[in-house]
Amino acid sequence: MRNYDNFINGKFTPSTGRERITCINPSTGDAICTAPDSTPADVEEAISAASAAQKSWARRPAVERAQALRAIAAKIRENVEPLARLITEEQGKTLGLARVEVAFTADYMDYMAEWARRIEGEILESDRPGETILLFRQAIGVIGGILPWNFPFFLIARKAAPALVTGNTIVLKPSEETPHNAVKFCELMAMTDLPPGVINIVHGRGAGAGKALCASPKIGMISFTGSVETGSAIMAAAAPNITKLNLELGGKAPAIVMADADLAMAVKAVTASRVINSGQVCNCAERIYVQGKIADEFTEKLAAAMQATRCGNPLADAAADYGPLINQAGYNKVEALVRGALAEGATLVTGGQRHELEGGYYYQPTVLADCRQDMEIVRKEIFGPVIPVVKFDDLDQAIDFANDSDYGLTSSIYTRDLNTALRACQEIHFGETYINRENFEAMQGFHAGVRKSGIGGADGKHGLYEFTQTHVVYMQRG
Ligand code: NAD
Repeated sequence: MRNYDNFINGKFTPSTGRERITCINPSTGDAICTAPDSTPADVEEAISAASAAQKSWARRPAVERAQALRAIAAKIRENVEPLARLITEEQGKTLGLARVEVAFTADYMDYMAEWARRIEGEILESDRPGETILLFRQAIGVIGGILPWNFPFFLIARKAAPALVTGNTIVLKPSEETPHNAVKFCELMAMTDLPPGVINIVHGRGAGAGKALCASPKIGMISFTGSVETGSAIMAAAAPNITKLNLELGGKAPAIVMADADLAMAVKAVTASRVINSGQVCNCAERIYVQGKIADEFTEKLAAAMQATRCGNPLADAAADYGPLINQAGYNKVEALVRGALAEGATLVTGGQRHELEGGYYYQPTVLADCRQDMEIVRKEIFGPVIPVVKFDDLDQAIDFANDSDYGLTSSIYTRDLNTALRACQEIHFGETYINRENFEAMQGFHAGVRKSGIGGADGKHGLYEFTQTHVVYMQRG
């Protein structure tokens, strides 16, 4: 078993502490590797390295910074297969999805590199004679990036690429569940000309290394992807320094299925969305609202489609549609939510049990009918292959149900009627709405949530500019 180190100032660097975290394959329970549970001193060392590198990095022309992103993207493309295998091994997604994640990560770095020649300031009209007003977009400084485990490799790029092209340097903390892919990212990065200190990676738990990163006065912005609870803790840690925050938090995506919908399309899309990555995706359909007159037919078809999905160990079973849940805690949460829903009056249509596969945290594809808006399973993020179905009477009620949530990341509606779709888009208060399809979002979009789903967002021009700060200069002619 390999024991890995942090990556600080261009070198693999042992932790100053002795605590280590063992990374487990969720498909088998086998140990894969260990990574340090970094100390505040390790985090401080990484921040100092990033801080020392930032000024000269920002002075380079943006096209040069973009070249560095492209060089890493090229290394990633040369290593799609080994990277996909180790992502699958430590995270449990299918190899097909892991390959998509790796390829998308390289594409994302290239996409952000393309912004180098498009970062624009403004010239503003002045009220004063002889004055010119210039608005610059400048780097913030050192970014702290904190990552979840569900798309661990892609999230490195989603934080680092916009940070670097705009002249920032970064300290990343991967999830303690998935350190291995981040180590491999560092190995590939070390083969390029990226200057030391521009990207640093420290491993460890949230309460130690994560908190130290968020509480540092030398961090210009924390860009975090993860749960609402952790987002709230990060806000508290960042509060004394008034550190800027970019928070991509959880979701509870409603999917509204109108009576006029193409049912086959809706069933296929919802099923795929619910089993991809074992249902552990912030924007997969988490609660289905079905118009009363088609509810029985839809639920029957959905149950058949879910039953037909194949759960398997993704490294051993190439035909598997989905693998295990990430860990015992994730498994327990799914099981408790299903049990609670049944106790509250939901009807089990299919699933509802541990999957018969041994060794990992496997859960059966599950459909629950007769769910109500007040049930926990309709209100809390499930993060498993489980679909609660709620009936509604008309569009007004469906929109009210959708909006009645702590979350506001993504949503979807299935209808053949343009007016229905447009009304839903105008009245559903979410960061994203998909019409006649489910996730995923595009890199040129803007992935952002309302309510407790976050602050700010990622991707596209708006996501890029989150990593800049404005500087306005007033120039008076003599
Ligand atoms: P999590 O919040 O448990 O952990 C995420 C990261 O935060 C980990 O690296 C963890 O070590 C760190 N952390 C924990 N406590 C911390 C603290 N006090 N201070 C600083 N860092 C701390 O989330 P997770 O279980 O890894 O990921 C699943 C969650 O992520 C789900 O809620 C999902 O919806 C969300 N997510 C959101 C998006 C999005 O784009 N909005 C994308 C992917 C995942």
